[in-house]
Amino acid sequence: MTRSLTLLGATGSIGASTLDLVRHNRDLWQVEALTANGSAAELAALAREFGAKLAVVGDEACLPQLRAALAGSGIEAAGGRKALCEAAARPVDMTVAAIVGCAGLGPVMAAVERGGTVALANKEALVSAGDVLMQAVRRHGATLLPTDSEHNAIFQCLAGNRIEDVARITLTASGGPLRTWTQAQLDAATPAQAVAHPNWSMGAKISVDSATMMNKGLEYIEAFHLFPVGLEKLGIVVHPQSVIHSMVEFRDRSTLAQLGPSDMRVPIASCLAWPQRMDTPLAPLDLAAIGELTFFPPDEERFPATRLCREAIAAGGGAPAILNAANEVAVAAFLAGQIRFTRIAAMVEETLAHMNAPAPQSLEDVLALDADARARAAAILETSALV
Ligand code: NAD
Ligand code: MG
Repeated sequence: MTRSLTLLGATGSIGASTLDLVRHNRDLWQVEALTANGSAAELAALAREFGAKLAVVGDEACLPQLRAALAGSGIEAAGGRKALCEAAARPVDMTVAAIVGCAGLGPVMAAVERGGTVALANKEALVSAGDVLMQAVRRHGATLLPTDSEHNAIFQCLAGNRIEDVARITLTASGGPLRTWTQAQLDAATPAQAVAHPNWSMGAKISVDSATMMNKGLEYIEAFHLFPVGLEKLGIVVHPQSVIHSMVEFRDRSTLAQLGPSDMRVPIASCLAWPQRMDTPLAPLDLAAIGELTFFPPDEERFPATRLCREAIAAGGGAPAILNAANEVAVAAFLAGQIRFTRIAAMVEETLAHMNAPAPQSLEDVLALDADARARAAAILETSALV
């Protein structure tokens, strides 16, 4: 039986991994809609390859190019923020949410509001909207399948267990490409060095987040919302090999871990086939060849981002949305060569110190707070170029 699929963020890293799985299982999936921000030519080629019914660019200026590239194909083309949400609102069996940043929140909400099954890679949506998004999931009877590898691991470990029996959830972190660098080296880290992840191949933003450890902090907030065990039961351990993707310890001191190759096609496949399993074109895990698994506590002196995230979710209110927005601005500035690597976390901390917002109550509240925090972070950026 074929199932229908919409992929938000089709031209990105998660998008490519998802489409690779679909390519290997063409008889299982019927693609409804594919979206991207720009990259009209690439999106059109994917829409043609997978026989999508609809292709949408978020950047409306790219719509004429998308239309031209789809001419004669019978594939519908659309553009703009509203069109992304309309695409996400179309009924399908599975929505993969793989837009990067808070920009993905509107489309995720649209998929949730029609009570769909959503494989969520877009962690920033959950960090910014937290309670608003989880309440919408419950209200509309949507199913959220965690696609981030750590959360997917936890989700798998929890299957068949009661959340009340959980003693501790431990997120594993690779530590990123700069894990062993001194403070002085970190000050001078370039974008090329920061995005050169040793284990995972990912988009630029999450690669930088991985280097600052902000990614693990965002994942800590993501875990808080997905798995209601309370902050005191959430922890982080650095595990450079990225073989164990996370662990759940129960009250009897039994710990379950999920292991696998560091390839996002594994957690994506687990979501696509849920509650069953599907084949992936990956080599089996060879533990004897890996040899050693090691673990270290996080160093929050050199990598303060996890502390900022722990503090933001403990403070509650609008702090996580402010943190996420400031981080998006700071990472873009770092990638553009405007600020030093170590200014990313500092800019986030300064933005948080300058703002105090109550908990957003609606999607509109989250988006307004996100815009305010971006403006505040941009003002801080003005005064901090290359310091
Ligand atoms: P990416 O940069 O490779 O791709 C992002 C996709 O989103 C692209 O298709 C792009 O066109 C689209 N996009 C970007 N800005 C947009 C906007 N303003 N409006 C509409 N579409 C927009 O990113 P990625 O690495 O694939 O990551 C996607 C999400 O998945 C992120 O939230 C990331 O944190 C999460 N994630 C990624 C990985 C990974 O291995 N890449 C692992 C876990 C979680
Ligand atoms: Mg992850």
